[in-house]
Amino acid sequence: MALNLLDYDGPGLTAYFAAMGEKAFRATQVQRWIHRFGQDDFDAMTDIAKSLREKLKADSYVQPPPIISDKLSDDGTRKFLMDVGNGNAIETVFIPEETRGTLCISSQAGCALDCAFCSTGKQGFNRNLTVAEIIGQLWQANRAMGFDPRGERIISNVVMMGMGEPLANFDNVVTALHLMLDDNAYGLSRRRVTVSTSGIVPAMDRLRDACPVALAVSLHAPTDALRDKLVPINQKYPLAELMAACQRYLVKAPRDFITFEYVMLEGVNDADAQARQLVELTKDVPCKFNLIPFNPFPKAPFGRSRADRVRSFADILMGAGIVTTTRKTRGDDIDAACGQLAGQVKDKSRRVARAEDGKTIPLVEVQQ
Ligand code: SAH
Ligand code: SF4
Repeated sequence: MALNLLDYDGPGLTAYFAAMGEKAFRATQVQRWIHRFGQDDFDAMTDIAKSLREKLKADSYVQPPPIISDKLSDDGTRKFLMDVGNGNAIETVFIPEETRGTLCISSQAGCALDCAFCSTGKQGFNRNLTVAEIIGQLWQANRAMGFDPRGERIISNVVMMGMGEPLANFDNVVTALHLMLDDNAYGLSRRRVTVSTSGIVPAMDRLRDACPVALAVSLHAPTDALRDKLVPINQKYPLAELMAACQRYLVKAPRDFITFEYVMLEGVNDADAQARQLVELTKDVPCKFNLIPFNPFPKAPFGRSRADRVRSFADILMGAGIVTTTRKTRGDDIDAACGQLAGQVKDKSRRVARAEDGKTIPLVEVQQ
């Protein structure tokens, strides 16, 4: 069966070439063509012998997920919808800022974790993305944005904050991360690649050992009672275990802090007292906080905290010496903001059908 070369990192490609009786440096050359120069046509790889090009053409191909739509927001944010087959489509978002360009990548078609405030979670889960589908988002975005391998980097940062829980698709995500960091592929520094997790504790330890990139943890609540409802995976890995895993991660991480993401839900998790609880909870973890104004989606049972509430909450964290930023909402006119990514998911978890029966969606009590 022919192989999609986007599925392989450096060692994988080298092993494939070795099996064809080809030297390792040939694999590196081809890898550079594919990832650095965005090339999918073997005939255009001019420094590769014709005989090898013919072999590659017979046995393999380079195929990222095709772009179905490409939308530009008024603020420059750009959202790609990509086809991953069988009625599933995923979203990838490019966010330009003054000093950097960030690509937000998806790791799964849907998500099985069902956080109460997340549009992706509400869609249910279909499957893990392959390596080619994960790295193919970066490949496609580079190409669509006029990738110039010698000039300024248009995509300088990658965040695994799109659809899905990256640590629930561990092996494929780590292989894709290796490609992002590889100088013969995308050559991003570890600090410019961020994995965001809802807190799958054993996988955080594995990531630390396999590829300790920057880590963001979706916290969203200061107590187990509330987090159990907002982020149901908390029932399995409660806060004390999560905080301990954050400390263990930092032992090997190139960055000396964890970024805690905290979506601000009006009247649910945004009181001053809750900010003070967070200070106490995170006191042994070198960290920053990133407050995210809640982005609404159809039938969402939450409201966005008011700006003055967010400011007061941030002031308490900062008063305790924690660097705190409030994320600007970007791309919401094209539904590209955090938590709005929905793509198209053929739900296998039957969550959508059950929700329509009104049976199993956990309702979160809103404090007044
Ligand atoms: N599954 C991973 C990464 C994808 S979600 C995780 O949960 O961390 C990326 C970020 O968007 C998370 O911090 C998530 O909590 C946040 N998010 C989800 N829904 C949101 C919404 N409706 N408004 C604002 N942020 C949201
Ligand atoms: Fe999944 Fe993250 Fe959404 Fe939770 S917030 S449902 S883990 S994508």
